[in-house]
Amino acid sequence: MCCNRLECFEHRFQLPNYKITQLLNPMSRFAEPMSRLIDELKKLPGVGAKSAQRLAFHILRSSDEDAEALAAAVRDVKANLRLCSVCNNITDVDPCVYCTSPTRNQRLVCVVEEPTNIAAIEKTKHFNGVFHVLHGAISPLHGIGPEQLRIGNLVSRVESGDVEEVILATNPTVEGEATAVYLSQQLKRAGVKVTRIAMGIPVGSDIEYTDEITMLKAMEGRRDM
Ligand code: ZN
Repeated sequence: MCCNRLECFEHRFQLPNYKITQLLNPMSRFAEPMSRLIDELKKLPGVGAKSAQRLAFHILRSSDEDAEALAAAVRDVKANLRLCSVCNNITDVDPCVYCTSPTRNQRLVCVVEEPTNIAAIEKTKHFNGVFHVLHGAISPLHGIGPEQLRIGNLVSRVESGDVEEVILATNPTVEGEATAVYLSQQLKRAGVKVTRIAMGIPVGSDIEYTDEITMLKAMEGRRDM
């Protein structure tokens, strides 16, 4: 090394495109393919620099077959999955298994914000209808209006007269509530029954520790016994 200046590091490693901050980053100590894998893993939600490093080393230590299976699964997800043309669920066959199921009630549609919400409802094993995925919720703060959501095919589904009831299962957040209110206004015009999932106190919890808004929602959503 000719001197202690960072520029000399840059010169020495022949990385003219690297910014000094990247040289100071401990990640740059890794071989280029490893740095690249860590950088890609860091883009995943909930994965920070340390976790990305741990995952990358796990992949490095795993067998060739396991690493190839992971790479193939990532490729397949992008190549073979698409949105169902009826309900917008993520699927490998169009229409999806829910929309073509002869044992499910095709006249009962549950509207959710994200495809992952379907799994939460399916876990109850008590819903036998079908779904509609909006892929988001109305959020003026983030510049998301109804036109950014997949609402069009829900409205046409209802207008075709094939739907008896629409259950609005958007999240109990400001955005989810705004979306539910908007959808109920749009869908009631078509003369369909529109319901909203109940909100309230989690099972197994204590009323004493319930916040006032949840308590209010629970009181509003009470039912006859
Ligand atoms: Zn579908």
